[in-house]
Amino acid sequence: MSAPAPIPFIDLRPGDDEAAVREAIDRVLARGWFVLGPEVEAFESEFAAASGAAYAVGVGTGTDAIALALRALDIGGGDEVIVPAMTAPFTALAVIGAGATPVIVDVEPGTLTIDPSACAAAVTTRTRAIVPVHLYGQAADMAAIRQVAARHSLAVVEDCCQAHLATCGGRPVGSFGACSAFSFYPTKNLGALGDAGAIVTNDPAVAARAARLRNGGQADKYRHLEFGVNSRLDEMQAAVLRARLPFLPSWTSARRQRAAAYREALRDVRTVTVPPERDAGHVYHLFPVRSRARDAMQTHLRAKGIETLIHYPYALPEQPAFASEQPAACPIASQACREIFSLPLHPALPASTIDAVAAALADGPA
Ligand SMILES: *Cc1c(COP(=O)(O)O)cnc(C)c1O
Repeated sequence: MSAPAPIPFIDLRPGDDEAAVREAIDRVLARGWFVLGPEVEAFESEFAAASGAAYAVGVGTGTDAIALALRALDIGGGDEVIVPAMTAPFTALAVIGAGATPVIVDVEPGTLTIDPSACAAAVTTRTRAIVPVHLYGQAADMAAIRQVAARHSLAVVEDCCQAHLATCGGRPVGSFGACSAFSFYPTKNLGALGDAGAIVTNDPAVAARAARLRNGGQADKYRHLEFGVNSRLDEMQAAVLRARLPFLPSWTSARRQRAAAYREALRDVRTVTVPPERDAGHVYHLFPVRSRARDAMQTHLRAKGIETLIHYPYALPEQPAFASEQPAACPIASQACREIFSLPLHPALPASTIDAVAAALADGPA
């Protein structure tokens, strides 16, 4: 008897979008214009429209999008910016990249998104912004975060890197704050064939400042008004993203449908718990589950050919990179980081795979 086919965590080779992606690449090659050109401009307006915002500014990475969003709001040296303990460390690295100080706070126990009351408790006279992360594709509690922000006159810069097309109470993520940041790293719900990111805003002045900052601070060619960076989006990535954007709604419903199938298949499985879906606008960038025997469970699954990944193995206060900020302990995030792991999930994942993964979880260690 042959072993069952391995179940990879993700498959990044193009699928139903392949012809459109190839056509986009050919179009860029034929035009011979490779950085900040017509494809970038078209993608910016198409992505802004898809996100329910007035402006998008294409940049090199999601990390740059967060850093430049903060800088476009004049947040930098001497300022404190509140970030959650449970996120890709790039969220907090971007705050440091903007010249500001990340203040790391704990998350809510169910959804693992930033805890609004922890944000309120962390505010000082130097606090300028909150960066909520819409973790795993689910919005943070934006109603509560906006209240905290309003009470203390703080900017809100949403980290939407895992939440393309997600909504919160029916309203698109990225539309709550002054400015928000997206990543198009290849594994994201909308991915390029390399690195890419975007800043989204409704404020024309913020969009113009972000566009200047990404291109060396130039107001016009060869005249540099301020210290900008080189974080230009290239034409090839923009063309690929344009080709893929029309597929995103169907990919998103495919993710939601597979997440629902996982929930159903895991309903009576006692070895793992599934974090709750608080908002129907969840876009399931990832499908994490929790186990008290996480490491043994991953080994058990690996023996059956099922690949799982951990998002994330360390809470931000445990990262050496942030030791100099002397972060307070975040016990809820730290506990989650010991228990969490993500199951294979992508728009083309077959239903039979979901059943196989659920069966393997059911007879795994408790
Ligand atoms: C991916 C990601 C980032 C960083 O985006 P890059 O494009 O890799 O720089 C930041 N925050 C979160 C939550 C992410 O998932």
